[in-house]
Amino acid sequence: MTDAASDCLFCRIVAGEVPAEIVHTDDHTVAFRDIAPQAPTHVLVIPRAHHRDAAALSASTDGGVDALVRAAVKVAEAEGLGDGYRLVLNTGQDGGQTVFHVHLHLLGGRAMTWPPG
Ligand code: 5GP
Ligand code: ZN
Repeated sequence: MTDAASDCLFCRIVAGEVPAEIVHTDDHTVAFRDIAPQAPTHVLVIPRAHHRDAAALSASTDGGVDALVRAAVKVAEAEGLGDGYRLVLNTGQDGGQTVFHVHLHLLGGRAMTWPPG
């Protein structure tokens, strides 16, 4: 499934039908601020095409995951996260995924702890 899903919140953000604070776009990705930030910088980077999770994206699109990471690194640089940041792909129920359009979390602006909850 790669076409925009009309019932998918993040496809609707890509289409401009749902407002979001967009911080970066390119041919393959859109990045916008998380509505419930868990760190001073919390940005979600998503592919323009609909894929439900990281497994589906990596299986169906050559370089799709790479495009997400490259966009996230650009945003991290633009946000001044030179001391480091965290990239997270929550995947499936046990991974804590709640929105089933794959998204890479970029978290930064504070020291992260480990292990995550
Ligand atoms: P997940 O739990 O699936 O890894 O992450 C989904 C993320 O999407 C959550 O961090 C949540 O705050 C964010 N989110 C949910 N709805 C919206 C929305 O309408 N707009 C934005 N900008 N973020 C959202
Ligand atoms: Zn979608």
